Amino acid sequence: PQEGRELFLLEEADARGTIAPRRSDTHKGSYGHVLVVAGSHGKSGAAAMSALGALRGGAGLVTVATRSEVVESVLGHAPEVMGWPLENRGPLGMADLEPLLEAAAKKDVLVIGPGIPRGDETVKLLGELLSRVDVPAVLDADALNAVATDLEVLRRAKGPVVLTPHPGEMSRLTGVPTKDLQKARVEVSRDFARTHEVTLVLKGARTLIAHQDGTVYVNPTGNPGMATGGMGDVLSGLLGALLAQGLKLPEAAWTGVYAHGLSADLMVARRGRMGLIATDVAKGMCNVWTRWN
Ligand code: AMP
Ligand code: MG
Repeated sequence: PQEGRELFLLEEADARGTIAPRRSDTHKGSYGHVLVVAGSHGKSGAAAMSALGALRGGAGLVTVATRSEVVESVLGHAPEVMGWPLENRGPLGMADLEPLLEAAAKKDVLVIGPGIPRGDETVKLLGELLSRVDVPAVLDADALNAVATDLEVLRRAKGPVVLTPHPGEMSRLTGVPTKDLQKARVEVSRDFARTHEVTLVLKGARTLIAHQDGTVYVNPTGNPGMATGGMGDVLSGLLGALLAQGLKLPEAAWTGVYAHGLSADLMVARRGRMGLIATDVAKGMCNVWTRWN
């Protein structure tokens, strides 16, 4: 194959092989601290599901920074989480920068986007945050819609960046209509990852993971039972957890995508394609970890 044009079909051994067995003389500090910036009034569930993805993904600690009025609701769904109340109101903007920088201190990874209150200033805040925090960042959902308004912010990131768009979000990021995008998923993802020097996860049946070196990985796991709200939120947290535990890119991305789909494949046998929901897939991560033990 031409250099930088490789296309790989992931196998279970690839994903399983990146997960190191845990040593007995370790503690929660050994497995990283994920900061999830997510949730808003009416969308506290998105923050909870991202946090659950991070917890079931093995993160040592998970902190959720979110609007004050939704902190308790997030903790109600995931008591293992620590809350970081953001006192301002309305869309995320520059007024949230200082509190978020404070929250990001001593964290190993940032996960930003599920259910955030987005406004005109959100992209500016993101750029500032990414340029001042030297850890990997996972951008999902409304963080992607903010980035779509000014792709140059990706250049400012100090640490490596993973973006996890579904086709609708990818269409906004690239300006390519969803129908055309779906016909050229490999090319569009590869192009984006290279141009913006990021890892791009294009979700959907046969999720693609495109790395900035031009390599594209195809994920075989997952099923139509996953076509339901919250699935992507769980993935964002899971990717954060793997990065927090020291996996690098693109391994963290393709391991997480493979494991997320495998969890859904194992759970769907009990739930059915119509009954599967996102929290099942978060819980079902346990089946993946026991299988890979
Ligand atoms: P989101 O749209 O952000 O909630 O993300 C949906 C998640 O479910 C992604 O990880 C998708 O890859 C996955 N998903 C949705 N539909 C399917 C499908 N038909 N086959 C495999 N995975 C799917
Ligand atoms: Mg989503």
